[in-house]
Amino acid sequence: RDRGPGKGGIRYHPGVTLDEVKALAMLMTWKCAVVNVPYGGAKGGIVCDPTNMSQREIEALTRMYTAEISMIIGPEKDIPAPDINTNPQVMSWIVDTYSAKKGYFSPGVVTGKPLELGGSKGRFRATGRGVAIAVDGILKHKDIDIQTATVAIQGFGNVGSATAFFLDQMGCKITGLTDASGGIFNEEGIDIPEILEYVSGAGKGLIKGYPKGEFEKDLDSANKRLLESKVDVLIPAALDGQIHGNNAENIRARVVVEAANGPTTPEADKILSKNGITLVPDILANSGGVTVSYFEWVQNLQAKSWREEEIDQNLADMMKRAFDDVLSVSVKEKVDMRMAAYMVAFDRVAKVAQLRGIYA
Ligand code: NAD
Repeated sequence: RDRGPGKGGIRYHPGVTLDEVKALAMLMTWKCAVVNVPYGGAKGGIVCDPTNMSQREIEALTRMYTAEISMIIGPEKDIPAPDINTNPQVMSWIVDTYSAKKGYFSPGVVTGKPLELGGSKGRFRATGRGVAIAVDGILKHKDIDIQTATVAIQGFGNVGSATAFFLDQMGCKITGLTDASGGIFNEEGIDIPEILEYVSGAGKGLIKGYPKGEFEKDLDSANKRLLESKVDVLIPAALDGQIHGNNAENIRARVVVEAANGPTTPEADKILSKNGITLVPDILANSGGVTVSYFEWVQNLQAKSWREEEIDQNLADMMKRAFDDVLSVSVKEKVDMRMAAYMVAFDRVAKVAQLRGIYA
């Protein structure tokens, strides 16, 4: 909490453990520091299985949890957000319970709220927009023309689909996509606006059934083909641990941009580095989401709503600055970008801790 209130999501999942929550909170400390939003790290979790609970039960659980933690959260203390199995409705119940306890409306206690309750414009696509900015930065650095760059993306949910949308607009050719239903491959480039329309309509959230390109329905083969395809940019945007000791030698992308959290294992990291593949780490590449969450909180404190263009511009400025900070440490200190991102983050946290002294 040295640099500001704690920030991080609340997770509802049967597998939540205290160790996992602590590790995720620490990751948030470094992510907030690297993109330079004035927050420390935090995380919350409840061991439960929301897929087997009614809305009424989820609401009761959320309200009871909020009441219990109300003395440790707050706009100046700790600002939760959605994570696995929590959403804008859950955030609304937290605002309501917390505000009732305080005796005044306090939307700044969480981010990821519905727009009507003080949520921010631009949040939905923020992480993908940030990933696209990171791709643009690394391609420039590697002297690869974005207009001719080929891209493969694993995951076509919130982050993967928004990343595809922005990269397509920037001129990239997306030649492979996978999601939980399989993979689509097209050397000529997948028509991104069309597949986005398909997924949000007839596809019911999945790419399966999209008629153009080559569809691979076996998920393991689709992911193997995607991860090992010869593209300029590989973007894991689904799950953790996807690039590991057993497949890292087969990665042929020139650049890996980590949109998901933790998609590359430490063993794979070393192999990619040995093979000259540049990797933009998760704490930098996917920090667009927490940046717009920060904007949501600032808007709540100002009791003001920013225009979407303002949000997009501020996000682009902060992401570019963070990218440049990390890249320059990487070049200057001759370390990979993951190490550089941690160096930037540790330095920021350490400086504040040193300046503050005792209570930090
Ligand atoms: P999501 O649930 O919206 O999307 C996940 C996607 O992955 C879906 O398309 C799903 O079909 C696909 N998928 C699931 N299993 C798969 C498999 N075996 N192979 C290929 N695809 C598979 O989730 P999201 O919000 O897009 O998050 C994706 C990743 O990004 C996670 O690691 C998350 O922690 C990270 N992240 C998300 C945000 C955010 O703002 N949403 C911010 C930072 C980091």
